[in-house]
Amino acid sequence: MKEDFYEILGVSKNASAAEIKKAYRQKALKYHPDKNPGDAEAEKMFKKAAEAYEVLSNPDKRARYDQYGHQAFEGGGGFGGMNMDDIFSQFGDIFGAFGGGFGGGFGAQGGRRTVKGSNLRVRMQLTLEEIAVGVEKKIKVKRKKLAKGTTYKTCTTCNGSGQITRIQNTILGRMQTASTCSNCGGLGKTIDSKSSNADADGMITTEETISVKIPAGVVDGMQLKMSGKGNDAPGDGVPGDLIVLIEEIPHDTLKREGDNLHYELYISFSEAALGASKEIDTVTGKVRIKVEPGIQSGKVLRLRNKGIPSIQGYGMGDLLVHINVWTPQVLTKEQREFFEKMSSDDHFQPKPEKSEKSFFEKVKDIFA
Ligand SMILES: [Zn+2]
Repeated sequence: MKEDFYEILGVSKNASAAEIKKAYRQKALKYHPDKNPGDAEAEKMFKKAAEAYEVLSNPDKRARYDQYGHQAFEGGGGFGGMNMDDIFSQFGDIFGAFGGGFGGGFGAQGGRRTVKGSNLRVRMQLTLEEIAVGVEKKIKVKRKKLAKGTTYKTCTTCNGSGQITRIQNTILGRMQTASTCSNCGGLGKTIDSKSSNADADGMITTEETISVKIPAGVVDGMQLKMSGKGNDAPGDGVPGDLIVLIEEIPHDTLKREGDNLHYELYISFSEAALGASKEIDTVTGKVRIKVEPGIQSGKVLRLRNKGIPSIQGYGMGDLLVHINVWTPQVLTKEQREFFEKMSSDDHFQPKPEKSEKSFFEKVKDIFA
């Protein structure tokens, strides 16, 4: 018995399209394989949610599902299950942040298999400064394009259907199985003639410059997909995708932790005692911050919204400045005498701030 699509997404039967989209977005984020590496249960939930969304987001499919339930998509001519590629291609309209060329792609389709060209993969190194604001980069890729003059003829093995059907005798009776034709790879046709500079698939390799828009907030290891920018498919198939793998170049002074950034600020004894104005790095340039007189080592100053924007478009991270008081390691005679004199001075004695009283201290207060 298959689970109800509305229950999978956690919405009511009369949920609006916007509610369904929102519910799917939440599920997809929660169970995303990048967030749950190696977790088979999460992957199952991720696929279930995608399957439910695929049906409920399409008014025709939803109406059929409402009337006939899961039967509406069984027995051919309907919903053929989804692979991870199909799921990620949904993301274009779900995660608007990717905008532009990302997403799109092909939904699950019944009938003859669409032949798709192979994907191209490129690595893209980005600085934290580029990630903070988003960037458009031009990259050179070698793409296989269908050569002019390549013509096809109907495949003689499958007679153009792209499939080979076999009748097998099994303990359940005679069963008909269909598999992809190995002669034409499911295309239904083979190359008839091609120009001399084309390869065995009738393709030529071209170098192309492609402009890639990187949204702000991308994370190291993230893959962005540009639909249709991969290698051409033979015949009337659709081109593959260009997969851009994001690599973050480590920053000299800023450490990233999710959307937040950390900066270690070193100040001298006297700056800690007297206060100071210090220059620090941010992803959008240097800024001056005020260090209050009497600041303690270990204190963390929070600069709101000076971090990295969330890739999902929910606000900005902060920049956390960690104060480190630098203790001098060599002292002159005069300095040594000064500190020796001060060591008995009450002002120089540590007076850590009292933290919240423990339960037992509070009880002691009451009965004192
Ligand atoms: Zn064939």
